[in-house]
Amino acid sequence: MKTKNQKSANEVEILTGRLRELSYLSSAISVLHWDQEVYMPKKGADARASSISLLAGLVHTQFLNIDHDGLLSSLGKKLSAKKLQPHDAAIVRETVRSFEKASKLPETFVKEMAELTSKAQHVWVEARTKNNFALFAPYLEKIVAKKREEATLLGYEVSPYDALLDTYEPGMTSAEIERIFTDLKEFLIPFITQIRKSSIGARPRTNTTSAQFPLEKQIAFNTEIAKAIGYDLDAGRIDVSAHPFTTDFHPHDVRITTRYNLKDPLESIFPTLHETGHALYAQGLPHEHFGTPLAEAVSLGIHESQSRLWENLVGRSLPFWKHWYPRLQKTFPKAFTSPLGAFYRSLCRVKATPIRVEADEVTYNLHIIIRFELEKALIEGAIEARDLPRLWNERYREYLGITPKDDAEGVLQDVHWSSGYIGYFPTYTLGNLYSAQLWNTVRKEIPDLDKRIAKGDLKTLREWLRVCIHRHGKYHSADDLILNITGEKLNPEHFSRYIREKYSKS
Ligand code: ZN
Repeated sequence: MKTKNQKSANEVEILTGRLRELSYLSSAISVLHWDQEVYMPKKGADARASSISLLAGLVHTQFLNIDHDGLLSSLGKKLSAKKLQPHDAAIVRETVRSFEKASKLPETFVKEMAELTSKAQHVWVEARTKNNFALFAPYLEKIVAKKREEATLLGYEVSPYDALLDTYEPGMTSAEIERIFTDLKEFLIPFITQIRKSSIGARPRTNTTSAQFPLEKQIAFNTEIAKAIGYDLDAGRIDVSAHPFTTDFHPHDVRITTRYNLKDPLESIFPTLHETGHALYAQGLPHEHFGTPLAEAVSLGIHESQSRLWENLVGRSLPFWKHWYPRLQKTFPKAFTSPLGAFYRSLCRVKATPIRVEADEVTYNLHIIIRFELEKALIEGAIEARDLPRLWNERYREYLGITPKDDAEGVLQDVHWSSGYIGYFPTYTLGNLYSAQLWNTVRKEIPDLDKRIAKGDLKTLREWLRVCIHRHGKYHSADDLILNITGEKLNPEHFSRYIREKYSKS
């Protein structure tokens, strides 16, 4: 006869088998998405949208079917009675959580949302190209109405925004975000004004526009950096897309994209560092748990902390370029003639721009705060979609001291809302905050980290991240993970201090 523990373990094994099948199906969807961004011809868009939506429907239905014989319910009871081993408990806890969310959304709702956002994305592209918000407004109104409905279906205690935010950053509330963002705003707005007046904000970039940077050389340089960080190219690849992204089908197949500008190789190096940061996380997830939450990222905020850490804390640091600048000079001998110090200072230029993806690490978070404030007000019904262009421009004037020249450069610049991603933006800033807090800890734990990075050793840092974060999957919540590693909960002070120290120096 089997003992109770053995029986639970077998049940978890059966659940894992079902989850794994679902993950293989989801991987197929990801391959289609990847191909859409990297290779698909324009005319393939409609057929591809249908394939993806059909498969997404299958995944949703099959996921809801996971408890057809009461397996998950039975494991849920054992979880409540604390009768599961810790790893099994984490699998069941997270699966129950997703299952409860998914079962609150009727299939018709899921399909309508998929269809609406698929159409809205096309309209958004057209509206942005034609700089015509009025084209997109009716779709955005419908999306907002649907997202309000989604929040009601999912349920919430204080703000409907909380229900949406929880999808991307489990456990986080809008009240907490508001508290963090208010402090950040109070620090950043006067700080930016202050450095704009000093010489720091005014430093010109190294003049590279006159030179040409052959694509093959840029690709080779980016690949060398990605490999040096520890990106396993036998389990990944680097392609080109308009908007760089990372996608993972399995920890053994994690792909990134970047983009190249023949006039400026730095425009690919930073996106490559960013996406490699995401890729290292995905490659570092324990493949033996593939399909279960133990092989999934904790949250989007934690994912973003990995990309921002490599892009900004490492990639925009002097030690990093001590090693890489001579290589950059050797690769492009005519272009980079200034000494290291001047080159480094050119990377630290702070200048408000209307475009989020072009923003420096200081002003970036104000772009996010504006989006958070507006989308929260939209979901709560305090404002309507038609008010957005005016409010958007007002906030940009107030927070960043600039006015977008038109809506294409303003409210229409991001794809997120047309995709139905409302509640997503705050995770970018959470990533910045987490990354600075992790950076503070790793520098204490590895006191010679700067020296190692200056010698080209990036694997020590990669290994630390792997041990502390990547290999745990969703075993811990974001809160507990950060507490375990750094000894405190999310503390935005680390980010403010990092910015103050780096950008107050002359
Ligand atoms: Zn990212």
